[in-house]
Amino acid sequence: MPRSDALLQKAVAQARVMNHDGLVTLLDWPSAEELFAAAYEVKGREVGRSVSFRGIVEFGNACEKDCLYCGIRKGNAKVRRYRLDADEIVREAEWAFKAGYGSLVLQAGELTGEAHVRFVEEALRRIHGFGGEAFGITLSLGEQTEDVYRRWKAAGAHRYLLRIETSSPALYAKIHPADPSWARRRECLGALRRCGYQVGSGVMIGLPGQSLGDLADDIAFFAAQDRDMIGMGPYIPHPDTPLGREADASADASKRRFELGLHMIAVTRLHLHDVNIAATTALQALDPEGREKGLLAGANVMMPNVTDAAYRPDYQLYAGKPCLDENAACCRGCLERRIASIGESVNWNARGDSPHWRAR
Ligand code: SAM
Ligand code: SF4
Repeated sequence: MPRSDALLQKAVAQARVMNHDGLVTLLDWPSAEELFAAAYEVKGREVGRSVSFRGIVEFGNACEKDCLYCGIRKGNAKVRRYRLDADEIVREAEWAFKAGYGSLVLQAGELTGEAHVRFVEEALRRIHGFGGEAFGITLSLGEQTEDVYRRWKAAGAHRYLLRIETSSPALYAKIHPADPSWARRRECLGALRRCGYQVGSGVMIGLPGQSLGDLADDIAFFAAQDRDMIGMGPYIPHPDTPLGREADASADASKRRFELGLHMIAVTRLHLHDVNIAATTALQALDPEGREKGLLAGANVMMPNVTDAAYRPDYQLYAGKPCLDENAACCRGCLERRIASIGESVNWNARGDSPHWRAR
């Protein structure tokens, strides 16, 4: 598509050349169609038009933290707490492996302590036992010590997803009043890199009080940290959380957050070029075709839920989480059709490491 604007042309041609003002201008680009087409061109050239799947097992919702936005925060007494046992986790991981997903994410509330660390180690060893190096294992288990990260890596994990949530320390402190240390979270990202993980990070988009300048800083933060993968999505209010009770949950506000979510994907693709970017479930919660739209805006990874449907209602981070009553096999077929409908294919049986990581 002919593109008259020099800024957009520059972003398509070369990675990591935008300054703060350039990123804000792109985030506020008047034609979403033009912005997404430019990001899609970069995606096709740098990572290809096939989607990598990571089956996600949400294996427990007990959490020691009280993040103001999250439905499974410690302070939400309405949540029925659960944890899958190791056999169930391994069974779901095996299902994902045999279904050709190539990669798995183990996610849960943040817990610390030796019993939890050993439990995860054991599950990792068993999964690594049948999947070996061909089956990627990502952990998303929050802030831990470097020693714990090292132990889980030795047991078979090779990627870790820890969102910085926002690159603004002041905004971070507002949404984590009980645990306001942004510096500690950033230090955890450093520890993960030292342990040899492929490290992913991300933010919530459309938080109360967050500006376009903050979002531009988030993208600059991903670049400065040399991240391999980005998992970010719209913030969605949960009615039983302190932030959810004050945030604007109107249809207009949801639409704005959704559109901003797509813009963030596109501008992140235009700035970082060769990283993995997830089309997250939160996009689908706001629009039935949200994840496909995420792919068309520059994302190349999806995380289908492979957790037993019986547990899904108890892992509600936000209102309206989709696929609560669908089993994993049904999700697989539905996603494959949705991906084919936009002219892309699934990268079956592949770990789907980002070209950026492979080049480093
Ligand atoms: N406990 C781990 C942690 O916080 O890193 C991993 C699980 S946590 C549920 C995964 C992510 O869910 C968080 O990083 C946060 O960005 C996202 N999340 C929580 N509440 C949300 C909400 N209301 N809207 C959108 N995303 C939310
Ligand atoms: Fe716990 Fe993660 Fe939710 Fe925070 S975002 S309350 S750490 S599960």
